[in-house]
Amino acid sequence: MLHNRYCGDWQPSPRWQATAYAKRRGFFEAHPEHCNNLVPCPACGYPTLERRNSYEVCSLCG
Ligand SMILES: [Zn+2]
Repeated sequence: MLHNRYCGDWQPSPRWQATAYAKRRGFFEAHPEHCNNLVPCPACGYPTLERRNSYEVCSLCG
């Protein structure tokens, strides 16, 4: 499974299924128009990072 696309086909790992985090991140992954040109943080799910796979610190949870 690819994990490096910008948005749209992210699936939470089984332990995160149906959590608020999974719903939030899933929404932003599926709706890049709501991401404000950012990508969702892998920790909190909010679109706070400029690039995926960079080691930026999230402004919310970092
Ligand atoms: Zn975060």
